[in-house]
Amino acid sequence: MSIKQSTINIFKDVLHLIYPRICAGCGTPLVKNEDIICLMCYIKLPRTGFNLDKDNPIEKIFWGRVEIEFASSFLYFRKEGLTQQLIHQLKYKNRQDIGIFLGELFALEIKDLMDEKKIDIITTVPLHPAKLLKRGYNQSDSIAQGFAAKSDVIFIPDLIIRNENTSTQTLKKRYERWENMADKFSLNSKYNIENKKILLIDDVITTGATLEACSNIIVKDSNTKISLLSLCYAVH
Ligand SMILES: [Zn+2]
Repeated sequence: MSIKQSTINIFKDVLHLIYPRICAGCGTPLVKNEDIICLMCYIKLPRTGFNLDKDNPIEKIFWGRVEIEFASSFLYFRKEGLTQQLIHQLKYKNRQDIGIFLGELFALEIKDLMDEKKIDIITTVPLHPAKLLKRGYNQSDSIAQGFAAKSDVIFIPDLIIRNENTSTQTLKKRYERWENMADKFSLNSKYNIENKKILLIDDVITTGATLEACSNIIVKDSNTKISLLSLCYAVH
């Protein structure tokens, strides 16, 4: 260990005495070598075990709706469960480090499968501008950042953009009946995704409507393939 590194470690130890690091899952103090969550919470993470299995519940959500290469989720999301506790902090307490951490874990869990799939680009669903303004960040970007780093794939956060609503109130009303989710998003013309394999990453999957809309935009006319991964799967 270099002198510089040991100085950093001493500094970190002192800092932890002043501000003890606590587990984002259960609140107990973290010990050395534990990061974000304690070992007990790490073991207790409710993994789905879906991996990239064909006909897993996430793939089934999209059957008959959009052609996807594969889809899966890492963790079950239950009300007042450990995953909810972690996602709550990621979304509302500025804990982007939790998103990065869980994204890394997810990537490591399915590393071999991802190597087989040869994904070219990772991207996310853009957050609604009002939410982005309030939160300051897109929580799915944090997850994708961690995931991309551990799977050696480029992450492009602004591949899909939200369409600005320029229509007047009257026009809006008139077209309301025909308005669908697909009109809300477009591809960013800055990027050429022809023949590329795109992986769309999201935080929690429920109905899949937003992911479906974004997937349709990607597969529309550029000979691309789309795959979907959500960190969590909300169980009702
Ligand atoms: Zn814990």
